[in-house]
Amino acid sequence: PRIRACCGTACTATGSYKVIDAIHEDAKKKGIDIEIVKTGCQGMCQKGPVMKVEPSDVFYQRVRPEQASSLVSFTFVGGMPYRQALYREDIFKEPSLEMMDLPFYKKQMRVALRNNDKIDPTNIYHYIAIGGYKALEKALASMTPDDVLNEVDKANLRGRGGAGFPAGKKWKHTKSSPEKIRFVIANGDEGDPGAFMDRSIMEGDPHSLFEGMLLCAYAIDAQYGFIYVRHEYPLAVKNLKHAIKQAEELGLLGKNILGTDFSFFLDVREGAGAFVCGESTALVASIEGERGFPRPRPPRLSEIGGGVFGYPSNLNNIETYACVPPIIEKGADWFRSIGTETSPGTKVFALTGKVKNTGLVEVPMGTTLREIIFDIGGGIIGDKQFKAVQTGGPSGGCLPASYLDLPVDFDSLTKVGSMMGSGGMVVLDEDTCMVDVAKYFLSFTQSESCGKCPPCRIGTYQMLQILERITTGNGQPEDINSLVKIGKLVQKGSLCGLGQSAPNPVLSAIKYFREEFEEHVYDKY
Ligand code: SF4
Repeated sequence: PRIRACCGTACTATGSYKVIDAIHEDAKKKGIDIEIVKTGCQGMCQKGPVMKVEPSDVFYQRVRPEQASSLVSFTFVGGMPYRQALYREDIFKEPSLEMMDLPFYKKQMRVALRNNDKIDPTNIYHYIAIGGYKALEKALASMTPDDVLNEVDKANLRGRGGAGFPAGKKWKHTKSSPEKIRFVIANGDEGDPGAFMDRSIMEGDPHSLFEGMLLCAYAIDAQYGFIYVRHEYPLAVKNLKHAIKQAEELGLLGKNILGTDFSFFLDVREGAGAFVCGESTALVASIEGERGFPRPRPPRLSEIGGGVFGYPSNLNNIETYACVPPIIEKGADWFRSIGTETSPGTKVFALTGKVKNTGLVEVPMGTTLREIIFDIGGGIIGDKQFKAVQTGGPSGGCLPASYLDLPVDFDSLTKVGSMMGSGGMVVLDEDTCMVDVAKYFLSFTQSESCGKCPPCRIGTYQMLQILERITTGNGQPEDINSLVKIGKLVQKGSLCGLGQSAPNPVLSAIKYFREEFEEHVYDKY
């Protein structure tokens, strides 16, 4: 018998380790040997601790330590068919269902998160047993570096961390540099409030990230790599460092990988938790041990003088690299058969806010907001009215109910004034004040502004002061137009992406919910 218990950060916080200990203890008393695989995040964070009982993949939710004995008795000792035990509500807080029966999982498709619910991330053999490092083996044995590069380019894998720039084009640009020392960097900074998809991959499936980085390094002839992780992710840092050691011991990292001429050395760098360090040039400065200050481009990271220690460097986020091994294994055509014409593949969203099922959701690009929020997310808590969804975190925007049937991909979101960003999705209900939401996101970016350039430093401060006035009943009729005017100047004049996108939540809130701003201002008259 085997149980796959989620030990991601959310389930750990709700007591998964206590449940595991209780099951072990009870099984020992009953003389049964149960293997419990401690997996990464299985996605359904709202219902944790969650676990799957094999062989039937029955999925248990909100398991409590005091239920351990019944779980062992019914499923492993009593031989009661799993389904009968499942509906004993006196035993389990709510009836559990097999994983793919759950509406939460039914419309999902797992590419980047393909292994998270299956393997113990601290055991490299678990990853290898389900086909891990096969893509690397295939590439080294039968593909030239250009073959790998062309396959990723043909797949049109777009960067999952921000604006969706094609990874293949970026790789080609780095490779075209005459400098022969090159770096591959993974951006695991993930500073958007409510976003945790990259953390879940680093914690729950670190080798898929390494394999993606190795394939990139092979394709662009790079020798060194860094994974940049924010220091608020201690479990991710621990699992990554442990996984690097294991991969080195098996000859999958370091010199002469798998007996070939290809060598790649990988290390982890911890950031101090500044949002601006997710910006590429600030990230590079932070890796070098400098203050995380953005700088003007060119030179780009892919050029001489632009990357780590001045060497050409390729930067992608964690989810992007995690998508590379299946592309090499199954081919670009397979990847392009998923999602939309211009945004192939899947996207992981961190679904949070006033939605019944919060958690990690991976769906084909082109899935509508309605499907994500209502079919997968279960709708609004308390069956209240949906009001808006904030996508793309503090760089994105708020979309009203009229966009619920919008197929989500990089281009569709940008067209309507929001963006994909790294995939944060915060659902807001009828009771939410949109002015407060706009103020919340702006206060976040304002406090995270590094202060280097005046449009961002002063502009976001001025905008925040105006929002403060409006929300405290001291707003003036001209304030709303001033917000729009300053916001546009900040977008145009700021040096880096943080400032260029900081006004987005305010501008989109005014665009779609202007009447709420006006109510705040005019109600006092
Ligand atoms: Fe710093 Fe903001 Fe200027 Fe970026 S836009 S460099 S965060 S002040």
